[in-house]
Amino acid sequence: MNFENNLSFAKALDEADELKGFRDRFLFPKHADKEFIYLCGNSLGLQPKVAKEVINRQLDNWANYAVEGWFDGAEPWMFYHKELKELMAPIVGANPIEVCPMNTLTVNLHLLLVSFYKPSGKRFKIIMEGGAFPSDQYAIESQVKFHGLDPNEAIIEVYPREGSDVLATEDIIAEIEKQGDEIALVLFGGINYYTGQWYNMAAITNAGHQVGAIVGWDLAHAAGNVPLKLHDWGVDFACWCSYKYQNSGPGGISGIFVHEKHFNNTSLNRFAGWWGYKEDKRFLMEKGFIPESGADGWQISCSQVIPMALYHASLGIFREAGFIEPLRAKSISLTAYLEFIVNEVNKEIGIAQYKIITPGNPSDRGAQLSIIAKEKGKLIFDGLVENHVLGDWREPNVIRLSPVPLYNSFQDIYQVGRILMQLTKKIIIDTND
Ligand SMILES: *Cc1c(COP(=O)(O)O)cnc(C)c1O
Repeated sequence: MNFENNLSFAKALDEADELKGFRDRFLFPKHADKEFIYLCGNSLGLQPKVAKEVINRQLDNWANYAVEGWFDGAEPWMFYHKELKELMAPIVGANPIEVCPMNTLTVNLHLLLVSFYKPSGKRFKIIMEGGAFPSDQYAIESQVKFHGLDPNEAIIEVYPREGSDVLATEDIIAEIEKQGDEIALVLFGGINYYTGQWYNMAAITNAGHQVGAIVGWDLAHAAGNVPLKLHDWGVDFACWCSYKYQNSGPGGISGIFVHEKHFNNTSLNRFAGWWGYKEDKRFLMEKGFIPESGADGWQISCSQVIPMALYHASLGIFREAGFIEPLRAKSISLTAYLEFIVNEVNKEIGIAQYKIITPGNPSDRGAQLSIIAKEKGKLIFDGLVENHVLGDWREPNVIRLSPVPLYNSFQDIYQVGRILMQLTKKIIIDTND
């Protein structure tokens, strides 16, 4: 599409947008009574207006039924997660039996590593992206040590080529082929939190399997953002948080995926708890752990009903929007418009002040653009916030802006461009004169 940098163009795109009504389903943060243009859904999604009602309904259930709420009422807690699984499955491209809501993300990553990182003899290495989200780095480092191995030998990080900000798929695959049968596990973030690069998940999964490794994904920045086909790609396991693109609230419940090919594998280690026990026998309280089949067999503690209710409410909005494909179509345009607008600022001031390090090809990115300001990045970022534009700043020098198709508009993007232009002229041009 040929974009234009003017308000009437942005307005026309918004008017033609079939998803425009969803914006009104969310609450936008305000400062001095003025709403922010919110471009931080990659970090914490906005609150759906329905969230309060949903929590209140569960508080009422608790008040009215107390312990009987596990089996009584319109939505008994004992079975609540089953409905949620139906909504989670299309978000990640899985069968409902392959997914389960539980715990929080890093906790789930640990639990899945217990099952799927099984170093043995010379097959002990983990391949991951250099510059992975720190929590993932710490989880993996500590798991490696837990097995009595040296992280310096066991963890292989793949970095971009000299002069590039992002990873070439062929370099990842070449590293997998090079390490070959020494690899126990390939574990990447679906979309890198810093660069916004969406890795070629199908190709990497396939390459890992070619050398006999297990392949897992952390989908914190991918789930609810881009279409995923975990089942069809044959991914072994995955986990994600729901509070970023899936709007389930701070500390929201995490989801796991375990491919059905592993359901009958009794050799997998698990850290077990009663909620993962065979469901129809759970309350017999017998000795000896027998897991429920499917992803539910990885549960440990009883259902976190209130966080689940928030996730359920939010995914209800995704269902109304057609789950992921219509959102993705809008997302591709919104992000391309933001890219165009940022480049317009460079053009107008005649300096390459902003460098977008996120790949330019839509199939290699989701909603987010990571922008390096050549000069005075933090000042520019602070100026955006003062002017009611909320993105986020990641050390050492990246501004991340993530237009979210459920609640951002093309006019949001146009306005961000206008503000960025003014700020850049004031902070970079005028002070350089
Ligand atoms: C956001 C994010 C996390 C956060 O983990 P929590 O356990 O939810 O705090 C972990 N990993 C990645 C890749 C993330 O993007």
